Amino acid sequence: MEGFQMPSQSVRIAYIAGYGRSGSTILDIALGQHAAVVGAGEIAALTRHVLAQNEYCACGSAITDCGFWSTVSRHWSNGREAEFIRDYCVLQKKFEGLSMLLKSISGIGLGPQFEEYSLHTTRLFTTMLSYSNKEMIVDSSKLPGRAIALSRMPGIDMRIIHLVRDGRGVAWSLLKGYERDAKSGLQKEIKPKSVFRTALRWSIVNLAVEYLSRTLGPERIIRVRYEDFTSNPAATLQQIGSFLKLDLSQIGSSLQRGEPMGPGHQVAGNRLRMTSSIELKKDESWQTRMPVSQQLSFQRLGGWMLRRYGYL
Ligand SMILES: [Zn+2]
Repeated sequence: MEGFQMPSQSVRIAYIAGYGRSGSTILDIALGQHAAVVGAGEIAALTRHVLAQNEYCACGSAITDCGFWSTVSRHWSNGREAEFIRDYCVLQKKFEGLSMLLKSISGIGLGPQFEEYSLHTTRLFTTMLSYSNKEMIVDSSKLPGRAIALSRMPGIDMRIIHLVRDGRGVAWSLLKGYERDAKSGLQKEIKPKSVFRTALRWSIVNLAVEYLSRTLGPERIIRVRYEDFTSNPAATLQQIGSFLKLDLSQIGSSLQRGEPMGPGHQVAGNRLRMTSSIELKKDESWQTRMPVSQQLSFQRLGGWMLRRYGYL
């Protein structure tokens, strides 16, 4: 880190927060179509496992062969990638989990280590911007803990897109398991998750994101529903565009016409990113296929949150 100076201008981040299976990867890819934006995927995963396991980037290359990420990670780590990333990962575990909520409320545990984490994270972003020649980064890591951490970093100008999807659709999607298939972007086997577990975690994660809207204020966070985005992308991107101060109208109309998009260098996230031509499709198969008993079991725990987002 020697000789590194904090950038005089803040780094602009559009952070997609929320639960998995809610469309964050396709929203990341859509925003990444803008000439000034790097759609980077789940940046938290880059150092947690993507680099260490040489996983695939959305450009189709393994991460160590991807021109963008290999350059960024080499410069970011001053050429000593393995140990640098291992040390950074320890900091990530400390400051990106839900315990960040308590740290943020109490102010306890945000000492020199947080400063170190903050410095490295900001520098990762500035390195990404300088090698892509763009002005804004989309980070679809989703984790509310990481969003809380980023919101406390002085060099970062973050806006949060709180992406919500009907939890019953999320639970239905998570009831299915998948075999590992690295080349198509599935790095490990995905075990089916129970409806109860999803209802609990979906509620907690969305509540944690809402904590941010209280602390950051309404001009820094916008709530977007997956169902609105997929049924009317033009209107949704119009809203997001005025929130981020970006003209997204062309991207919106192209999606509205059903035109496909090409991915950027998104890491981790939904495996659809591994296709060279991606269409925005609404997946509401749960409405006809999810047994009513399972829908009710979700509602018993998460019903009040479903109501809160206008789903019941
Ligand atoms: Zn790539």
